[in-house]
Amino acid sequence: MSERWFPDTMPLPAASPDTLGWWQAAAEHRLVVQVCDACGRYRHPPSPRCPQCHQEASSFVDHPPHGTIYTFTVVHQAFVPGIELPYIVAVIDLPAVPIRLVTNLVDTDPSEVRIGLPVDLVWEDMGPDLALPRARLASTIRVQAVPEVGG
Ligand code: ZN
Repeated sequence: MSERWFPDTMPLPAASPDTLGWWQAAAEHRLVVQVCDACGRYRHPPSPRCPQCHQEASSFVDHPPHGTIYTFTVVHQAFVPGIELPYIVAVIDLPAVPIRLVTNLVDTDPSEVRIGLPVDLVWEDMGPDLALPRARLASTIRVQAVPEVGG
């Protein structure tokens, strides 16, 4: 079941050949991370060439749908019509890889947000082939074991 938090007036991202695999997984409500087939370096957002070894071959591996808040800001000014204020933009540390994901915290009172709190990803279906990851505070504090990617 899908929920909506942002209005249809929000600008939608456009897939490119380099990001298509990421968007296809997102449409299936799966978080994936791009990994270089040559040296194993993870990168996000998806890009055509590894910044470490400059090879083009890459794959997408599944990542557990949770992380922790690295930083955040509370937005009090509407940049698109119809958006409900305030809303929260957060940078999420993914625990299994050295990358971060920029998204929105939803269903969250801004006064409750703290750096380091655990979040779970939820998916907002923007159309039949487009879903965006959002995050909400985790309902329970989980043991911070580092999960495996690709499982
Ligand atoms: Zn590489």
